[in-house]
Amino acid sequence: MRQDLTCPVELRSWERARDDRGRVRVYLKVFNLSTREIREADVVLTWRGEQGERGEKKVSFENLNWAARSRQRLTVTLTAGDVQVRAVRFVRLAFAGYEKEWIGRRERFVSYPGTPGIRDARLARRLSVLAGPDAVCFPRRDSDSWLCVCGRRNLNDRPRCVRCRRRRETVFARYQKEKVLEARLPHGAEDAARRPLTQFRQPVSAREKYLRQKKLLWRRTAMLLILLCLLLFALWCANRAAAPRPNTDVIPPVRAAQTAD
Ligand SMILES: [Zn+2]
Repeated sequence: MRQDLTCPVELRSWERARDDRGRVRVYLKVFNLSTREIREADVVLTWRGEQGERGEKKVSFENLNWAARSRQRLTVTLTAGDVQVRAVRFVRLAFAGYEKEWIGRRERFVSYPGTPGIRDARLARRLSVLAGPDAVCFPRRDSDSWLCVCGRRNLNDRPRCVRCRRRRETVFARYQKEKVLEARLPHGAEDAARRPLTQFRQPVSAREKYLRQKKLLWRRTAMLLILLCLLLFALWCANRAAAPRPNTDVIPPVRAAQTAD
């Protein structure tokens, strides 16, 4: 996967789905790694069409209010036929109250090997007990970067993982494969480590997400209409209550038949 390791926003995943009008929607899950609120972002999506044609689309987002260290979502709609997204690259980020912007450079957007998973479920469980539930792989050193136990690759000048904030020294001292095999697990955790990994929930497809969003929108609109009707009804009742009533103090006329005696 290609990525710019200096980018303050991490692209965690993306999915594509076609909407009712045949357009391709790309759902991006991102994480603001920085300690500043992000207000604006420019993203470039590189895509390839059915005939092998390629294209790029740049999309600008404003008024984002992405809090520091928060997970966020972005949706990009592509009008260019049935295309496959090949890469997603942040090219500009603007921070709240900070004049300097982050500008992405194409030469820093390079391919890195994917995260090597752990096939042995028991070993994966041991790592998870020792390092935490987000630990998915053993650390690894490369020429210009190091792979954290959480699966994030970091440049070698980073003493801490930009995603999980674990220290590089700690990661390599405690969570390399041999260390995990040797380590004594906390009391009671040994049994937990023997159990097979719990079933993870099936990931929801992008199409399902789109339909859910649509359903949610309909529900919200219906709720809004009901609230509006209730408000109008309450106003009508209030108006009625305020209207002048007939004077009940007036003594009713006495009928002649009742006073005949
Ligand atoms: Zn990490």
